[in-house]
Amino acid sequence: MTLPGSALSAPVPAPTPAATAAPASPLLDPGLLAAAPAGLAEVQRLVREIVHECADALRGRGGPLPALGPEDLTGLVDAQFPDGVVPRAGAGRDAVLALARACAETTVDLADPRAAAHLQPPSLAVAAAADVLAGIFNASVDTWDSGPYAVEIERRLVKGLCELAGYGPDADGVLTPGGSASNLQALLIARDTATAKLRDVRGRGLAGFGQRPLVYCSELAHFSVARACAVLGLGEDAVRTVPVDGRHRMRPEALDALLRRADPDTDLPVAVVATAGTTDYGSVDPLPEVAAVVREHGVRLHVDAAYGCGALFSERLRPLLAGVEEADTVTLDLHKTAWQPAAASVLLARDAADFAPTTGLRVAYLNPDDDGEAGYDGLLGLSLQTTRRADALKVAATFLALGTDGVGAMLDACHDLARHAERSIAAHPRLALTAGATLSTVVFRYVTDDPAASDRVNGALRRRLLRTGAALVGRTDAPGADGRPAVHLKLTLLNPRTRATDVDGLLDAVVRAGLAVEAIEEGSVA
Ligand SMILES: *Cc1c(COP(=O)(O)O)cnc(C)c1O
Repeated sequence: MTLPGSALSAPVPAPTPAATAAPASPLLDPGLLAAAPAGLAEVQRLVREIVHECADALRGRGGPLPALGPEDLTGLVDAQFPDGVVPRAGAGRDAVLALARACAETTVDLADPRAAAHLQPPSLAVAAAADVLAGIFNASVDTWDSGPYAVEIERRLVKGLCELAGYGPDADGVLTPGGSASNLQALLIARDTATAKLRDVRGRGLAGFGQRPLVYCSELAHFSVARACAVLGLGEDAVRTVPVDGRHRMRPEALDALLRRADPDTDLPVAVVATAGTTDYGSVDPLPEVAAVVREHGVRLHVDAAYGCGALFSERLRPLLAGVEEADTVTLDLHKTAWQPAAASVLLARDAADFAPTTGLRVAYLNPDDDGEAGYDGLLGLSLQTTRRADALKVAATFLALGTDGVGAMLDACHDLARHAERSIAAHPRLALTAGATLSTVVFRYVTDDPAASDRVNGALRRRLLRTGAALVGRTDAPGADGRPAVHLKLTLLNPRTRATDVDGLLDAVVRAGLAVEAIEEGSVA
């Protein structure tokens, strides 16, 4: 299988318009460093050529995914790089351009309006461009002298986000590699805050610890909460799941009942995790009510706003996050609803002092006390990482260029699209709406002639769309009519340039794929 005119259709490097203009030797000077003057010239040239390859390749695309299955792609890349991607001898610039071209031909094109599967937005041009700063200078924010400007920018970025969240001047925060990592760090802080009162868990571990630390979250909370509990030695079954209401939000009175049931001799509730934007529905737990229950029981509150954080930037959607300022810690994924290239997650804490007991650390060769006292402090003490990329630069560049208003308007546009999708689904005889939009997600099903075939057909129609590359919709399990998990489809709309007519086209493609799958099934039965 080959793609016409593709960089993947033959062992490359194949000559390209950009590469033919290159000097006789395409080989790169092996020691050329990005931030040296000659290196910057090479970066400029290569980036221009890479972008040229991408633009050219994207013109040949027919949808958000290539019309390839996993085996086709494996075969194509085998043919493209017969010696693997870690060869003894390098092939220079042309190999890089071939890689770029094939990537643009076969990767997911998130800017295509028919890409609507995951909480993975198309990245903003300004952010992608400013991100080259991180690559060129390779600053690290762990110590002041490994990246002074990036350290300063991250501090200011975090302060600005703390203010938007409604936190006071004592708040602080840190960038992390993802919402999973932010949630882990929040629960680490919660575990150590609760257990430090009783015994030094950090030094001696949980062995012999009398009470069992417990974490409470809704049944729709992200799996990273349970995984964090496993990593922290609490065990996944330290999670107590709270039922949700008909709108997929944690029921505060059920949380209250569960906390009341905790046995003081054996149970130690260390945190409640409320979700502001569940991954499947975008639903937001009732934060003020949850916060009131949590306060009464003297437990910490973490808000996982990995998805919902974009509402901080939107006047229209900000009310969804009312009460977030009552959380002890908050997770924000700016690589979701602030359109950043991954990774750009942030953990905020209402009290900066929360960080010191868990990640505060003085290391002789990184941040000795006397350097810190003289003002030469980096961000090592806030993070579970040591070397840490200057991800704050692209984020700051985005807000500096577009303002929070610019980013908020993007979420507003996606919210409008989701509301439109909701109406179109509800009006379509072959589609059934399961959950309408809170943020930018709608959950629905294709209605089959034979109800017993629903799971099979909904699963198969999504794969059919994947195989043709024509559309990329999400999938999840949601309770069916009998209350048991049933296969559902979802649209996670994160492309603000998508038009309402594109959404309708996407839904039509879903219906056509469903009809085709049903016709094939009937044919094979007959
Ligand atoms: C995406 C998501 C996460 C995980 O974030 P990553 O950045 O993918 O690690 C956590 N919680 C919620 C609610 C999410 O939607």
